[in-house]
Amino acid sequence: MTKPPLTLYLAAPRGFCAGVDRAIKIVEMAIQKWGAPVYVRHEIVHNKFVVDALRDQGAVFVEELDDCPDDRPVIFSAHGVPKAVPAAAAKREMIYVDATCPLVSKVHIEAQRHADNGLQMIMIGHEGHPETIGTMGQLPEGEVLLVEAVEDVATVQVRDSARLAFVTQTTLSVDDTADIVAALQARFPAIIGPHKEDICYATTNRQEAVKAMAPKCDAMLVVGAPNSSNSRRLVEVGARAGCSYSQLVQRASDIDWRALDGIRSMGITAGASAPEVLINEVIDAFRARYDVTVEMVETAKENVEFKVPRVLREPA
Ligand code: SF4
Repeated sequence: MTKPPLTLYLAAPRGFCAGVDRAIKIVEMAIQKWGAPVYVRHEIVHNKFVVDALRDQGAVFVEELDDCPDDRPVIFSAHGVPKAVPAAAAKREMIYVDATCPLVSKVHIEAQRHADNGLQMIMIGHEGHPETIGTMGQLPEGEVLLVEAVEDVATVQVRDSARLAFVTQTTLSVDDTADIVAALQARFPAIIGPHKEDICYATTNRQEAVKAMAPKCDAMLVVGAPNSSNSRRLVEVGARAGCSYSQLVQRASDIDWRALDGIRSMGITAGASAPEVLINEVIDAFRARYDVTVEMVETAKENVEFKVPRVLREPA
């Protein structure tokens, strides 16, 4: 039987970012250095495939530091942790390695600097996301106000509208965040913040590639996990950029083939925590059903790399 033709647009950049790559290396190198088990507080990055592979190598994933024994190393996930967490590990004299992405750590430093200058902080982010918890946890409880959407700006209660600063989660929608920042600046003209926001290069580049790709596609799939903020944003960006069917899949087995009936063009991208092996699995699933022609939609080249912490580069 002849397969129907399908143009498969592949977004570039897509998938792993430098912070995710570094965090995974940190767990692997820690297991090599100290042997298994090595504890990891929270999923090191939001991807089940990555977490399962590390678990097979000897990583034990827990949600709280209290779930770790004193005598095994513990790693903090790429999303960052409240200051109280490394402080508690130090108090217990544990070996700990912080895999917080350096671009998240930069936001932590910004928040602390503003607070040291006597400014009240507003964080633009998603309630309950580990990165938001980690960044807000750089300052004492109640010091950072959370704003999730433009509507929240009208009701946020500040101490002194002349002494305010904002930071953002790194994995937000660039366009939504611009609207929230504009609303904050309209209500609090003296508010201080980064040049635009704190959204990282990887989030920005993946959203730009989707904006260029989506209008060409009858349907679009984002390979990523349901708890991955940047992956979910890519689905929204695809839908807004004109692709009427924009869906998240973790693996090829999640693809709803019936919904794709009759398509002639397909876009594929992946969130920053999705490995290339899963993207290839999805492409292979299309090759099995269609006569596929792959076309790249490249909007940026990335060559960012982050070093692992020194403790892992030194011999045991
Ligand atoms: S998405 Fe951005 S902030 Fe998050 S780990 Fe990757 S580079 Fe770092």
